[in-house]
Amino acid sequence: MPFPELADRLLQVRERIDSAVRRGGHGQTVRIIAVTKTHGPDSVQAAVDAGLEDVGENRVQEALSKMDAVSVPVRWHLIGHLQRNKVKSLLRFNLFHALDSSRLADAVNEMGRAADRTVDALLQVNVAGEESKGGFAEPDWRGEAERLKALDSIRVRGVMTIAPLDADERTLRSVFAGARAARDVLIAAGHEATELSMGMSNDYEIAVEEGATFVRLGTILFGARPA
Ligand SMILES: *Cc1c(COP(=O)(O)O)cnc(C)c1O
Repeated sequence: MPFPELADRLLQVRERIDSAVRRGGHGQTVRIIAVTKTHGPDSVQAAVDAGLEDVGENRVQEALSKMDAVSVPVRWHLIGHLQRNKVKSLLRFNLFHALDSSRLADAVNEMGRAADRTVDALLQVNVAGEESKGGFAEPDWRGEAERLKALDSIRVRGVMTIAPLDADERTLRSVFAGARAARDVLIAAGHEATELSMGMSNDYEIAVEEGATFVRLGTILFGARPA
């Protein structure tokens, strides 16, 4: 059986999440997204067998080939950057986490309108203003929150952020709290923004304490990724 440790690891992660929800006091429900990137389709099957219902990939092509290789009832999340010429593939995902520019949002909206479909998406925010990362910085996300109201084929369901690598706890906490504040801006603008996608293997407990509703976990569930 592939990933023999998955069930035990998941049990521990769930306990840690429950404790973090209690410490944080936000009372939210947290869903675990199993990040299967670089692993084969058997990782998706293993996730489902362990009781997970959400799978995340950061590359479209890899995600689509896994979707074709397994037929298991999971919700697919695209958690990585998407090129504008590939927006049509979003029709195969349940939630897109990386709405990271106005031009991409326009392309997604156009595609949705043409396909007569509404696309559920999260606004990616770059709280720490890192050059190397995509997403809207403060205060640009305020303007985008307003602008997105006119894009009828996108439903903005919340915010996604990726914290700086190797940041200390104080920095992580302020980044995650900043993402939560960005979600409040979306809500104030009238979006049904209930979701906060933040937290990876190294920082998910702090993210949950700060209100995460989705944590995106790869390494801690499946082990180190093949090089
Ligand atoms: C790879 C990836 C993750 C999971 O990372 P781990 O540290 O292995 O848990 C989460 N989010 C995004 C956007 C990723 O690309």
